[in-house]
Amino acid sequence: MNTRSALNREATLSKLGNETFDLAIIGGGITGAGIALDAASRGMKVALVEQKDFANGTSSKSTKLIHGGLRYLKNLEIGLVREVGHERAVVHQIAPHMVIPQKMLLPFYKKGTFGPMATSIALWVYDRLAKVHDRDRRKMLSRQQTLDKEPLLKQDGLKGSGYYAEYRADDARLTIENIKSAVDHGAICLNYVSAEKFLYGANEKISGMICRDVLADETFELKATFVVNATGPWTDKLRKKDDGSAHDKLFLSKGVHIVIAKEKLPLRQAVYFDVPDGRMIFAIPHHRATYIGTTDTKYTGDIEHVKVTREDALYLLDATNNMFPGLDLKTEDIESSWAGLRPLIYKGGKSAGELSRKDEIFISKHDLITITGGKLTGYRKMAQDVVDLVARRFEHDHQKTFREVKTKDIVLNGGPFNEQLKLEDYKKTLTERLKAAGLEGHWPDYMLENYGRQSDAILEKIPYYDRNTPEEALIRGEVWFAVIHELAQTPVDFFGHRTGRLFYDLPGIETVKNVALEDFETYFDWEEEELKNAALELDRAIQSMTDFGEKDL
Ligand code: FAD
Repeated sequence: MNTRSALNREATLSKLGNETFDLAIIGGGITGAGIALDAASRGMKVALVEQKDFANGTSSKSTKLIHGGLRYLKNLEIGLVREVGHERAVVHQIAPHMVIPQKMLLPFYKKGTFGPMATSIALWVYDRLAKVHDRDRRKMLSRQQTLDKEPLLKQDGLKGSGYYAEYRADDARLTIENIKSAVDHGAICLNYVSAEKFLYGANEKISGMICRDVLADETFELKATFVVNATGPWTDKLRKKDDGSAHDKLFLSKGVHIVIAKEKLPLRQAVYFDVPDGRMIFAIPHHRATYIGTTDTKYTGDIEHVKVTREDALYLLDATNNMFPGLDLKTEDIESSWAGLRPLIYKGGKSAGELSRKDEIFISKHDLITITGGKLTGYRKMAQDVVDLVARRFEHDHQKTFREVKTKDIVLNGGPFNEQLKLEDYKKTLTERLKAAGLEGHWPDYMLENYGRQSDAILEKIPYYDRNTPEEALIRGEVWFAVIHELAQTPVDFFGHRTGRLFYDLPGIETVKNVALEDFETYFDWEEEELKNAALELDRAIQSMTDFGEKDL
């Protein structure tokens, strides 16, 4: 049975309810998805439940950088820079179509945070710690070379820049591909299933949980030898379900991004720049748009509804207008936005910006294994650490052993690309195929970064569809792929975490949304009422991307 198909939901639910798993994972963000793949690839019988869609939480709301960790140098977290640099290389290796090199410009100004000397030294250290390849090592640029790279930069006081290596990856896509690979290795992963209560067996140890199928509003028991809580900002909520007297471990910090169309902010180059209040933010070109972020503020509001406030949006807009004067960007120019929560581990007396981005594992007296903190970049190693721990426990408590970890060598879906099967060659062929189908401009980058070689399956479908435009034909192929191969249950799942259009191409949704809705109706055999509700839900999601609240809820 294809458990990657949303149409097989009933059968997948029945497996979750009727089998006993070695490991159950709560949370379908990048942390949970990485653990599912690692554990399944070692031969464990794995279940993963996600209360909404995969990547519903922080894992679709990040800056989408696979960091070398330059920021951490400021706090002298040398070990962390070294580790994330190493992990960045691994993740690029297993998914080079998704984890894209992104050169970053760090301009320095008279009276700025960093001078030329400090920038040069920091980037030199960073290159060595993060093991940046010789050809990608930092260059120090003169004022004129800097302006040649990015002519829109503020010229007043500009002295030069550092030019260094980062990588960019769509966080939700990386999560979905880990989920898919986990399923391909035998894991049962399902969205819209929430863990409601824990079950306890001998010695009061956790033996599973009561789950709720959110779509049918029905509960069932899921049995497992070990349970991992990988719920990011929800970590403490779950820990308290297990142990009512547990103290909070997390400090939640909100981070916001805004998206501006390329015509309004035509950056040639990603820039990491100073904000007048002393912080630093990124402006990153992405296909047909540029996104800007982020903020870092303590959050105590409702974690289910994290909003971009007008104040957040204006802060980023002002900072952008300050660094790229002459554009005079206004709130009406913001096409989309997102707000996410960093699940940071609380250390008394430190502000959001000062708290470490390190991950930690906690084990409760009932054996609930919680992993939290960390970064998108470090997900694979975090997963390895948790599954190592589970494997040791299996060996000790149950005399059961599993294979060694091998996720460094598991090429994610969309590959492989290597010396023989070159990414550039595939992109060339893909560009020609898309051109023949009437799709030029940003479409080759979009398809490559989203699907890699999986684009072939989608493009093979499109000549057979009725359509008025090439975009309509493409959307029909993508809906098919998302429903049958990527567990997309709703049009919001599709336009959000499967294709990223809600984030980077909100205006483009309007022209294709009816075709997508019609295909969802057909696949799921919806009644008229169900279609109406799905259309309403999509409209609400579209509206929410630019519906700035006055304050946090
Ligand atoms: P989440 O993605 O939040 O996943 C937890 C999941 O658990 C959610 O989907 C939630 O719905 C689910 N869940 C909760 N309760 C239940 C339940 N009862 N039952 C079932 N499911 C449940 N890192 C980088 O490496 N690079 C960056 O550029 C970067 N930028 C960032 C910028 C911002 C603004 C923020 C906020 C973070 C950034 N990070 C970055 C950090 C990174 O995004 C996070 O570390 C990572 O996404 C956390 O993933 P997670 O899976 O632990 O949590």
